[in-house]
Amino acid sequence: MSDRYTKSKELYKKAITLMPGGVNSPVRAFAAVGGEPVFFKRGQGAIVTDADDNKYVDFCQSWGPLILGHAHPKVVEAATLALQDGLSFGACCEKEIELADLVLEAFGEYDRVRFVSSGTEAVMSAVRLARGVTGRSKILKFDGCYHGHADHLLVKAGSGLITQSIASSAGVPDEIASQTLVAPLDDEKAVEQIFEKEGNEIAAIVLEPMPANAGLLVQRKEYLQFLREITLKHGALLIFDEVISGLRLRFGGYMHEVGITPDIVTLGKIVGGGMPVGALVAKEEVMEQFAPNGTIYQAGTLSGNPVAMAAGKATLELLKEGSVFEHLNQLGKVQDECFNALKEKYAFFNFVRQGSVSWLHLAEGDSPRSPADVKPEAIELYNKHHRDILDRGYYIAPSAWEVAFASVAHQKEHIEGIANAWEDIFKKYM
Ligand code: PMP
Repeated sequence: MSDRYTKSKELYKKAITLMPGGVNSPVRAFAAVGGEPVFFKRGQGAIVTDADDNKYVDFCQSWGPLILGHAHPKVVEAATLALQDGLSFGACCEKEIELADLVLEAFGEYDRVRFVSSGTEAVMSAVRLARGVTGRSKILKFDGCYHGHADHLLVKAGSGLITQSIASSAGVPDEIASQTLVAPLDDEKAVEQIFEKEGNEIAAIVLEPMPANAGLLVQRKEYLQFLREITLKHGALLIFDEVISGLRLRFGGYMHEVGITPDIVTLGKIVGGGMPVGALVAKEEVMEQFAPNGTIYQAGTLSGNPVAMAAGKATLELLKEGSVFEHLNQLGKVQDECFNALKEKYAFFNFVRQGSVSWLHLAEGDSPRSPADVKPEAIELYNKHHRDILDRGYYIAPSAWEVAFASVAHQKEHIEGIANAWEDIFKKYM
C-alpha cells in the first residue's frame, strides 16, 4: 500500500487491538481484497473523504441506504430537528405514524408495518411471524441470498441430500440449522422436490426477489411467480426480503417490478435514510398476530426511534416525488453506454444492472443467475484490482460478490470516470 493511506493504516493498527478484526462488520476488514481498510471521516453527496483526506466517488453508499447520497440536506435537517427534541423515548411518537403512512403508501397492498432497527431484525421477525401464523417450523431459503445474521438464516446447502442443510457459521446449533432448508436459485425442480417431501412442515419461503448479495443475480419472473404459486398451494407464506431492493428502483418494491405479491415484505437500508431502521410489511390479519394483539412476541427499545423515523420520512418524501428515480434511470443509461462500450473493446466481462444497482462480473459468458454460475476468475480479478480502483479515486465494495450503488448525487462524469478507471486498469494489466 502506498503512503496515500498512512492515517487509515495507523487507525487500523489501533482498531485491531480493540475490536475483533478491527471492525464491527466483517467485510469492512478488506480480507477479500487484501491490504488495510480505509477509514472514512466525511461523506457529502457522491463523495467520501478518508482519514488521509483522499476523496473518492463512492459507489458503495453505505451498502445501499443512501439513495439520496451522503448527508442530503433535507435528511440532515429532519434528523437534526428531531434530535433536538430528544434522541429516544421508547414510547409512541407521531413520527412513527408519519413514516408508517409513507411505507404503506409505497406498499399499498398491505395495511400494517412494524419498524425494527436493522435488516437482520426485519427478516428474523418475519420468519417468526410466518412460523407463528402457520404453526410450522421449517423455512426454505436459497444459496446466494443473504438475510442477515440470525441463527436460522446462516445456513447453507449440505453436500448430500437436497434437504440436508448445514450452518454457515460456527455457533449455530445443528438443531436450528436443520429447520432451514436450502435450495439453489433458478431451479424449480429442486423447490418442487423439497415441497413434495416436506411441504406441510414449511412455514415460509424467504428470498431476495432481486438477489444482490452474491453478485446481482437477476431472476426470471416466471421463477418468482412459481415460488408464489407453490407457497399458496402448500399453505406456506412467501417472504420477499427487499432490504436492498425495496424503494431502490421505484417508490415501492421489486415486487412491483415483477407484479408478484408476497405475504410479508422486509425492508431496511433506504427506509431509514441512513439511520438504523428495518421494517416488515404485511396484511392486517397476518401482522396483528404480533404482540400486543397476538401471541407472537417481537419488541425493541429503539424501534420507531424518532430521529431514525425523521430521516426515513425525509427520504421517502423525496422518493415519492419521482424525480430521484428519473435521475437514477438516466444515470443507469449512461452506465449501460459506458460499460457496453468497454465491453466491445474488452469482451471478457458482463455488466449487470437493475436501476441504480449494478455489478461487474469480470468473466465471459452470460450474466449469472445463481452463485454456481459466478466464475472464480471474475472474483479473483476484481479482488486483485480493488486497490487500483481506490487509488484512482473511486470507492467500490471490498468484495467481488458485492454490488455497486449509485445515488441521486452521482452525475454522468462520475460514471464515465469509473468506466475510464477500469479501462485504465484493463489496459495496464491485461
Ligand atoms: N437482507 C438483505 C437482502 C441484506 O442485503 C441485508 C444486509 N446487507 C440484510 C438482510 C441484513 O441487514 P442488516 O445488515 O441491516 O442487518
